[in-house]
Amino acid sequence: MKTKIAVANGDGIGPEIMSAVLNIFEACNVQLEYEFVEMGKSYFDAGHSTGMTVLAKDTIEKLGILFKGPMETPKGKGVKSINVTARKVWNTYANQRDFRTLNGVDTVFSKAGIPINLTIIRENIEDTYGGIEHLLTYDVAVGRRIITRPGSEQVIRYAFEMARRKGYTKLACGHKANIMKLTDGMFLEVFYEVAKDFPEIQASDIIVDDLCMKLVSRPETFQSIVLTNLQGDIVSDLCAGLVGGLGFAPSANIGDNISIFEAVHGTAPDIAGKGIANPTALLLSGISMLRFLGDSANAAKIENALLYTLEQGVHTGDFGDKAIPSSNTKEFADAIIANLGKLPANGAAIATQGFDEKGEVFKPSKNKLTLTTGVKEEMIGVDVFVRSDLQPAELADLAKVALTDNFNLVMISNRGTQVWPTGSIYTELVNEYRVRFEKKDGREVSQKELLHIAADLSAKVKVCSVEFLMNFDGKIGYTLAQGQ
Ligand code: NAD
Repeated sequence: MKTKIAVANGDGIGPEIMSAVLNIFEACNVQLEYEFVEMGKSYFDAGHSTGMTVLAKDTIEKLGILFKGPMETPKGKGVKSINVTARKVWNTYANQRDFRTLNGVDTVFSKAGIPINLTIIRENIEDTYGGIEHLLTYDVAVGRRIITRPGSEQVIRYAFEMARRKGYTKLACGHKANIMKLTDGMFLEVFYEVAKDFPEIQASDIIVDDLCMKLVSRPETFQSIVLTNLQGDIVSDLCAGLVGGLGFAPSANIGDNISIFEAVHGTAPDIAGKGIANPTALLLSGISMLRFLGDSANAAKIENALLYTLEQGVHTGDFGDKAIPSSNTKEFADAIIANLGKLPANGAAIATQGFDEKGEVFKPSKNKLTLTTGVKEEMIGVDVFVRSDLQPAELADLAKVALTDNFNLVMISNRGTQVWPTGSIYTELVNEYRVRFEKKDGREVSQKELLHIAADLSAKVKVCSVEFLMNFDGKIGYTLAQGQ
């Protein structure tokens, strides 16, 4: 019986590369039935605010698998990216991107005889991708970066399970916890907690800037890396560059209920409609999808035909030996079809029964968000963000009027740097300050009292936003200002 999946052609080069990939699937007689869904730029333009029809949404939710071409988000219309929305709404929390050296795709490393085979797992829901941003003044924009303990656990657990299935011995956590102590600090803490359940995998962590340097100098030393969303996005494009570019970067967005398979690259508007795009990244994503669906035999057959074709020097215009004329998208796909059944000289894929034990990608065991209970919370103060053109000492005098006996004015900062009670005359100021009030030792304080402080202050200066200061099980739940 055929498995039904949803397919969205996408925009730009999407329809061209999707057609090439589905032709290869058909030639291989894969047992899939496609329900084509209406998603993408033209559906935004037609007035669907989410970029997809209600029927498309229902179909994807019913079938659980979406194979999609790249999609364009209209610029400057205030609409959110359909690609990001799809990943977030359907909770595809793990974005797996596999990068490996392909014979016939020359890179600096392949020429030096250094093979690359590494997997990036990127958290796919949280971080700055909530797109929660505000202008506090005309000159000052702030964005919220959301990292949660259960969200981190979901993706990190997936990364460890993936490493175990692939037979990797190492998983590294990339982060910037030295600077973002609470957000990346939480991700890192959860990483080492989950690592305890996978004692056979060597867990390590690396600061993301150092990681980038080491990836371009010694990529062969890495097997798998898990990262938060934005850092994972950047690092995975870096890895695409290591193996020949975006044309070779597949991606699987895995969730408990819905999974989305797509290429990492976008709609390539500069070459759209010319029929010259490289379909390899989408094909590799499709091969992952076949494995995910349990069709390891066809996955291996198509992968071997692709590898054999690349070894023969067949290439599209974006890569390969310039001495060999390039093929267009259809010719490239036809060459793969002609090579179905052939084995590459190097790195042939092996079919397994049912789910691929080596698990390019796999269905995670149900991995629900689990919130921590029984934590003692204590409210100890408030940061009031204000718009002011005053100097710090003047603002401090003014802020003191909002004080009651219960509170101290402890600090004022500007762009995160303390400017009162001490600071440097060389710190340059913008017109938005953070004014921190903390309770005096031992006093009970209510949220209402803290809001009163902000309200009292608003009589003197414009309040832009308020953030409460909390302790959790006695540990402070906020950061100190630079220089505090
Ligand atoms: P892009 O990935 O579309 O293109 C970057 C460069 O890579 C271009 O020179 C392009 O010609 C080339 N390229 C990309 N894919 C190729 C392929 N398969 N074969 C040959 N060359 C290829 O990135 P962009 O130009 O920044 O983005 C274009 C649009 O795509 C934007 O609207 C963006 O929002 C969207 N986008 C969508 C996705 C997605 O659907 N998942 C991902 C990234 C970007």
